[in-house]
Amino acid sequence: MKSDVQVAVIGGGIVGASVLYWLTKLGWTDALLLERRELTSGSTWHSAGNTTYLGPYPAMTKLFAGSIRTYLQAEGESGQSVSFHQTGSLRLAATERELNLFHTYKLNYDKLGIPFHVRTPEEVADLHPLLNVSGIFGAAHTPTDGHVDPTGATQALALAARNMGATVERHCTVTALTREAGHWAIETANGTVRASNVVVATSFWAREMLSPLGLNLPVFATQHQEVITQSIPGLEALDHEVPAWRDSYMSGSVRQEAKGVLAGVYEAEPKFWALDGIPEDFKEDLFPPELDRIMPHLERLIERMPSFGEAGIKVINNGPMCWTPDGLPMLGPMPDQDGLWLATGFNVGIGTGGGSAEFLAHWMTTGSPPFDLSVVHADRFGNEMSREAALAAIRGVYAVGYELPDSF
Ligand SMILES: Cc1cc2nc3c(=O)[nH]c(=O)nc-3n(C[C@H](O)[C@H](O)[C@H](O)COP(=O)(O)OP(=O)(O)OC[C@H]3O[C@@H](n4cnc5c(N)ncnc54)[C@H](O)[C@@H]3O)c2cc1C
Repeated sequence: MKSDVQVAVIGGGIVGASVLYWLTKLGWTDALLLERRELTSGSTWHSAGNTTYLGPYPAMTKLFAGSIRTYLQAEGESGQSVSFHQTGSLRLAATERELNLFHTYKLNYDKLGIPFHVRTPEEVADLHPLLNVSGIFGAAHTPTDGHVDPTGATQALALAARNMGATVERHCTVTALTREAGHWAIETANGTVRASNVVVATSFWAREMLSPLGLNLPVFATQHQEVITQSIPGLEALDHEVPAWRDSYMSGSVRQEAKGVLAGVYEAEPKFWALDGIPEDFKEDLFPPELDRIMPHLERLIERMPSFGEAGIKVINNGPMCWTPDGLPMLGPMPDQDGLWLATGFNVGIGTGGGSAEFLAHWMTTGSPPFDLSVVHADRFGNEMSREAALAAIRGVYAVGYELPDSF
C-alpha cells in the first residue's frame, strides 16, 4: 500500500468514489481511497438509486443534475454500466398551494436549463396510467431524471478514477487520524499512510471517527424502509417504464422496478439506530422489516395507485440512512484542521453524491467553491450542538421530507 499521498479519501460508498473520481479528473491523481470492507458496504448497496431533480434549493438542484452527468461520464470512461433509467419523474401536487409553487419553481428550472413542466391531472394520467389522479391538482414533471444502479455507479467511478491513476484499497479500515507536522497520519489495518489532505466520506461513521480530534459532528443514522412488489399486470402490459412519482400526501417516492414497483416512505416519527456508536461488527446488514411503522403511508400509496394494493410484496429493505440536523450534507474544509475535508451526512447520496463531489473537488483543487452553496458547508453547525438538539432537529426534517418550501 502507498505510504505517502497528496489526498486520501476515507469511505468507499457512492460519495467517496465520486470524490475520488472528481479529484483525479481535476488533476489530483496521487489519490488513495481507503474502504473498510468492499465498495458500497454502507448505505449505498441497498439504496433505491433515485436520482430525481426536485431539490429544495436551486443550487442543490445543480448537485442533482451534476450527479447524473457524473455517473454517465464515469460510465463512458470506464465501460462499466451505471444502468441509468431515464424515466423522468412526477411530483404530485396534493394541494393547490403545491401546484402554485410548481409554477414559481419552473422559472428557476428554466434558468438552470433543466426541462420542467407543470402537468394537469389528465396529463399525469397519460404519463402514468396506473395513477389515480382524482385527488391531485396536477404535478411537476422533470422528464430527464430517473434512477441508476448505485453499485454499478460506484464501481464505474472507482474504475474511471483508477484508470486516471488513483488507487483503491479495500479491506483497509482506518483506525486513527492524527495531525502531524504538515500532513495527516492515517493509521489503517494495513499500515500508516501520510496524506496532505484527507476527505472523510464515511457517512454515519464520521461522528466517531472525528471525535478524537475534538470535533462534534451532528450526524446520526435512522432506519429507512423500502418495499419492492411482485409484477403488476398494468405495468407488464406497458412497453415502456413509467415515471417515478413523489407525493407529500403519502410522504414517499415510488418508481418502477422491473415490472413491479419500489416504494420508500418517510414516516412521521423516524427510528434512530446506533446512537451510542456504530457496532464494530456491522457489515452489509439490514434491520428486521417493520411494516407497521409505514402502513399508514402505504395505505395512502394505495389510494394514489390502487394496483399497488393488489401486488404481493417481494422484498422489504430496512437499512441505515445518515442524517444531519437540516437534512443537507456536510461538504468542505473543517476550521482549524488544515487539510481535513468532509463529504458526509448524505441522506440522498445517490441523487446528490456525484454533483457534490464535483463541487468539493473544485473547492479542494482551486481553493474556493465553484458557486455559492453555503447551506451545505461542513462548519455550519459549529461544534457545540448537543445530541438532544441534533436528534430533535433530525426528527423534524425527516418527518417533513416531502413538504415543499415556499420559495425555491
Ligand atoms: C432503504 C434506503 C433507500 C434509499 N434510497 C435512496 C435513493 O433512492 N436515492 C438516494 O439518493 N439515496 C437513497 N438512500 C440514501 C443513500 O443510500 C445514501 O445517502 C448514500 O448511499 C450515502 O452514501 P455515502 O457514500 O455517503 O455512505 P455509505 O454508502 O454508507 O459509505 C460509507 C463507507 O465508509 C466506509 N467506512 C466507514 N468507516 C470506515 C473506516 N473506519 N475505514 C474505512 N472505511 C470506512 C463504509 O464501509 C462505507 O462503505 C437510501 C437509503 C436507504 C436506507
